[in-house]
Amino acid sequence: MNTIRAVLFDFDGTLTLPGSIDFMGIKRSIRCPRDVTILEFIGRLQPASARRRAWAILHRFEDEAARRSRPNEGAEDLVRCLKRRRIRRGILTRNRRVSVATALKNFAQVRLADFTVIITRDHVERPKPDPEGVLLAARRLKVKPSELLVVGDYIYDIEAGKSAGARTVFLESEFTTRRPAPPADFSIRSLNEVAGLIDRLNRSRGKAHNASG
Ligand SMILES: [Mg+2]
Repeated sequence: MNTIRAVLFDFDGTLTLPGSIDFMGIKRSIRCPRDVTILEFIGRLQPASARRRAWAILHRFEDEAARRSRPNEGAEDLVRCLKRRRIRRGILTRNRRVSVATALKNFAQVRLADFTVIITRDHVERPKPDPEGVLLAARRLKVKPSELLVVGDYIYDIEAGKSAGARTVFLESEFTTRRPAPPADFSIRSLNEVAGLIDRLNRSRGKAHNASG
């Protein structure tokens, strides 16, 4: 097992408190079926005028949600702790960069500049659950995918991480409706558990290394 050198966070519901973005409200407003994902639904809408209208509605929901967003429990401490330990930090989101920037204004101690990479839906052809964004993040963070810990609160985060060959952490909350199958490598209830988890992973790797050396 490789040392964890970087952490790639999902944004909404992971670094921010879950529940601020109203996915069902968005789906109702753009008439997207419940079992179809929003970005993919809008991407296929015809004609182009209907597509533009749907994007505008989505952007309005995202802007409101970003303004309401608050840091998740433990998020600020974790980002600062990773920074102190020189573990690189990235964000991979199906949202837009402007939403991340707006939401981070509600954080007291974490800023955009605390992340080496911020990859949004505008940077990839295929958003999560496709591994494209995770692989791109690993390249930009200058780590191997196997040195990356992907942390997210939705099945797509875990699917994308696993397909890319990263290690994965599923963050559960009262809003969790589906758990990833196959499961994430680790499942946690709070971001406060992540620093200790990285310690254990990196320490056990050190021991294995010493034993074999
Ligand atoms: Mg999320």
